[in-house]
Amino acid sequence: MSETGPAIVEPAVIDPVVRLEKLTRSFEQGGVTIDVLRGVDLVVHPGEIVALLGPSGSGKSTMLQAIGLLEGGFGGLIEIAGVDASKLGKDQRAAVRRDHIGFVYQFHHLLPDFNAIENVVLPQLITGKPRADCEARAKELLDALGLGERLEHRPSKLSGGEQQRVAVARALANRPRLVLADEPTGNLDEATADKVFAQFLELVRGEGSAALVATHNERLALAMDRVVRLHDGVL
Ligand code: ADP
Ligand code: MG
Repeated sequence: MSETGPAIVEPAVIDPVVRLEKLTRSFEQGGVTIDVLRGVDLVVHPGEIVALLGPSGSGKSTMLQAIGLLEGGFGGLIEIAGVDASKLGKDQRAAVRRDHIGFVYQFHHLLPDFNAIENVVLPQLITGKPRADCEARAKELLDALGLGERLEHRPSKLSGGEQQRVAVARALANRPRLVLADEPTGNLDEATADKVFAQFLELVRGEGSAALVATHNERLALAMDRVVRLHDGVL
């Protein structure tokens, strides 16, 4: 719940969840090199909820891809939970993702042939946890998000806001230290977006996860612990 707030930690003792130093990324576009990230420095501490603001095209999604260890091609240091990503192979990067990071995107990306609870159970099964425990965890999260009556519904039978709430439950299912959210309510109308985002924040705070939330919505940013802005490739 929000009363507890983010975890209070001593940065010198506990590793930051994210540490970026001089992060760079360039793209070739029609024979021209575009330097999208020009040396981004950022530290996110455990339990901290950070808004990543910046206009469309400023590099927010590119930055989240770097931190999510989804793609290569980046320069500089990317450290997740104290681990230098450049020292990891493909399988180890996948393990860091699985163990520490939850993702929420603008579009829910739920599996259409599975119902709400199954969509939240499946990512837990790969950890080897017993199915009954995975189901209990999924139910706990979906109940907290007000979806207790919708557990058996497939995504196509849910509203946009409900689909996005299932995606939030899925992201938190494995108790990640870090949630990366890329315009998580960008597909919803304003009233629904505000409601879903408030639930997202309350749940992330209650779980004690850190979060980095890319948005161009200044209003959503006000509810977070800290705001960073991408401008001309730096924060
Ligand atoms: P934002 O999420 O802030 O809207 P993006 O990170 O999506 O910004 O994009 C930043 C810039 O990088 C844009 O100019 C975009 O065209 C460019 N870009 C992103 N991904 C690629 C790619 N795979 N190939 C070429 N250019 C890309
Ligand atoms: Mg984007």
